[in-house]
Amino acid sequence: MSKLIFEKSVSGRKGYSLPTLSDSEAACKLHIPEKYFATEVAELPEVSELDVVRHFTNLSLKNVSLDANFYPLGSCTMKYNPKVCERIAAMDGFSSLHPLLPQLRGGGMLTQGALEVLHDTEELLCEIVGMDAFTLQPMAGAHGELTGIMLIAAYHREKGNKKTKVLIPDSAHGTNPSSAAIGGYKVITVPSDANGCMDMEAFEEALDDEVAAIMLTSPNTLGLFNPDIHTLADKAHAVDALLYYDGANLNAILGKVRPGDLGFDVVHLNLHKTFATPHGGGGPGAGPVGVKKSLIPYMPTSQIVKRSDGTLTLEYEREKSIGYIAPFYGNFGIVLRAYIYIQLLGKDGLLRVSENAVINANYIQKKLQDKYDLPFSRKCLHECVFSATRQAKNGVTALDIAKALIDRGFHPPTIYFPLIVKEAMMIEPTETESKEDIDSFIDAMLEIAELAETDPESFHALPLTTPITRLDEKKAVKDKKFTA
Ligand SMILES: *Cc1c(COP(=O)(O)O)cnc(C)c1O
Repeated sequence: MSKLIFEKSVSGRKGYSLPTLSDSEAACKLHIPEKYFATEVAELPEVSELDVVRHFTNLSLKNVSLDANFYPLGSCTMKYNPKVCERIAAMDGFSSLHPLLPQLRGGGMLTQGALEVLHDTEELLCEIVGMDAFTLQPMAGAHGELTGIMLIAAYHREKGNKKTKVLIPDSAHGTNPSSAAIGGYKVITVPSDANGCMDMEAFEEALDDEVAAIMLTSPNTLGLFNPDIHTLADKAHAVDALLYYDGANLNAILGKVRPGDLGFDVVHLNLHKTFATPHGGGGPGAGPVGVKKSLIPYMPTSQIVKRSDGTLTLEYEREKSIGYIAPFYGNFGIVLRAYIYIQLLGKDGLLRVSENAVINANYIQKKLQDKYDLPFSRKCLHECVFSATRQAKNGVTALDIAKALIDRGFHPPTIYFPLIVKEAMMIEPTETESKEDIDSFIDAMLEIAELAETDPESFHALPLTTPITRLDEKKAVKDKKFTA
């Protein structure tokens, strides 16, 4: 274990010396009421600049990160994000802009550029997914879902529809049922069929006049596209149920098909998965929501509008709006990165994103399917889902395989999700990995499968290469110290 920076402290050692206070600075200090003066010297570590640099550099090397490792964490789209997006987002004109600057008079000219980025991003996203309007304010995928459900509720309320339920397939991301429930709806789980998609018979049985919406992910969390989508949309619309598209993983279909053309009424996207925002570490993110015309009146405030003189401004007065869902304009920096990314790639580039994401996942599926069970053996889209049941018979679980991958320098895939697959391992290579890197991951997986047969016992102590090795999970559950 490395030392804490406090343990490296040596009395009197310095990394930086402050200049002595000038008269004017001393005068400034006089304006601070005396009661706020420090009475004790803060207990900060006394270290040199080199100590600080080494300490934090070495800590950062303990991180598993995309800049250092292949990271096939299914459903999370842990792809490489171009550094130029970071460079531009860090420019002073963007990063130092205060959200309370006036939009038109006075400082208005300072904000027009940022408003233009927001406005154009809305238009680009409308075009990409086939929707009529977008709000960029939701700050995560789940937040986008909740916003979408609130919009759907507002729509039904105004029409006087008595709607109480939302239908969601059993393969859905956990945020879907929670968003519907927080939005006030009863969640009806619809089982999947042998193809891994929503079972049409069960769907028709569950569909009635009280269904407000059907939340679908297509391709779903098994990486499979729903071939019945048009029929499904027609049946839903016949009872005035709206179709919600969970577009967190849009890199599967970018430029190929638009949810709006498939019959979806509301869609959320995860800019922090598909559109070049470093993802992981908990945020920040952005989950913009797109809607068809019939839902525009309920969109959250504020909305960007173009005035007759061509300038842009934010409109706050919207009679039927669901109101505020985020402070200011959401995560502006994240929207900006997505805008740059879309402009960089253009139409052809976005098309290549999905083609490469899909071919990479299918390549892995093909190469591993003799050694690992594939519960749904169809062509996949952006990710493939294996089951470790064959290895588990020898006592090597999906968790053990994940730990073995860590020792080989790979971030593990998502495991034990989707819930409908036993011992699930959900692998999403993304479009940014080279064939060489994908091949070395495949080799590691094949070597692990072999070892699971010849030496299953060796797995239980893994990982061996990390600062903290295998945790006692049973103890973690039982011991009050961990759960209190
Ligand atoms: C990641 C994801 C979400 C949730 O997005 P967050 O930004 O983590 O809230 C929802 N649905 C699917 C399919 C996802 O992959």
